[in-house]
Amino acid sequence: MDHPSPTLAGLPADADAAAARDRPRDPRKAEFETNKLRKRLRRLAGQAIADYAMIAQGDRVMVCLSGGKDSYGLLDILLTLKDAAPVQFEVIAVNLDQKQPGFPADVLPRYLAARGVPFRVEEQDTYSVVKRLIPEGGTMCSLCSRLRRGVLYRVAGEIGATKIALGHHRDDVMATFFLNLFFGGKLKTMPPKLASDDGRNVVIRPLCYVRERDLARYADAMAFPIIPCTLCGSQEHLQRKQVTAMLRDWERRFPGRLDSIFSALATVTPSHLMDRRLFDFGAVRATGNAVADGDTAFDVDRALEDAIERAVLVPAGGEGNSAPIIPLLRD
Ligand code: SF4
Repeated sequence: MDHPSPTLAGLPADADAAAARDRPRDPRKAEFETNKLRKRLRRLAGQAIADYAMIAQGDRVMVCLSGGKDSYGLLDILLTLKDAAPVQFEVIAVNLDQKQPGFPADVLPRYLAARGVPFRVEEQDTYSVVKRLIPEGGTMCSLCSRLRRGVLYRVAGEIGATKIALGHHRDDVMATFFLNLFFGGKLKTMPPKLASDDGRNVVIRPLCYVRERDLARYADAMAFPIIPCTLCGSQEHLQRKQVTAMLRDWERRFPGRLDSIFSALATVTPSHLMDRRLFDFGAVRATGNAVADGDTAFDVDRALEDAIERAVLVPAGGEGNSAPIIPLLRD
């Protein structure tokens, strides 16, 4: 008969683990870990800002603050970067109060005032509009975000913002890529920087290199006063949920796969895809001169073969790891 293994404290192992979880953490260690995490978030955001020229001297950056963990993280990291950045820029937080029932309207103003951040709360009842237009049981998020975007663009003009910063992170970028691939027939995702659809604003995503789990840990450590986005009772799209679950499963079973996919998003070879708008296939001629990214015709791609071999030979994450990858890549 199985018995829980005894521990030094005389408690069964599972009770011991639960006790360890509940034990108050050493505050110095917790502070050290939070500082380390903050540095990582700052480094990744700073890198993304530099790589995509997101913020320039004299910019007035409007941070869209919903009250969720991602937008709190974005605001916090931009504020810390502002003090050390080689260029001067302003940060102003903007929240849209959509009049959802139960929205705690005092939470964000209190937080922002305490941190000394300039802010504006825009009140607009988009909630009733969405409720009126979407049939009972339908997903409201798409219309809700479109209405929200329109209001935020208008506010950006009114406050003289030169950039609009959104809190989308690396997991959002990846999930959107696969949603477009699976359901939209396009190779596209949320770009780090783009002109808004009304052509009047530049939208930036400084957290595009940051993992969601790090933002969740940071929000927890900083005790941000989170306001849930589901006050309206709507749910995330089923497809987005499924794609997110697929990515989490890959991350667990195939370490390195998501890094490879993320890196691929920034390493595109138009001549080796099939979009005639990006590459002039009609102009391809044999010139007799070597071409750097020319096709090696029937050669094996050594780098790719090596990467596949590494993934198969070093299975991490346990059961079912090596079996599916071979037919998937070689069929
Ligand atoms: S959960 Fe509600 S508030 Fe959030 S985007 Fe969807 S409809 Fe809008």
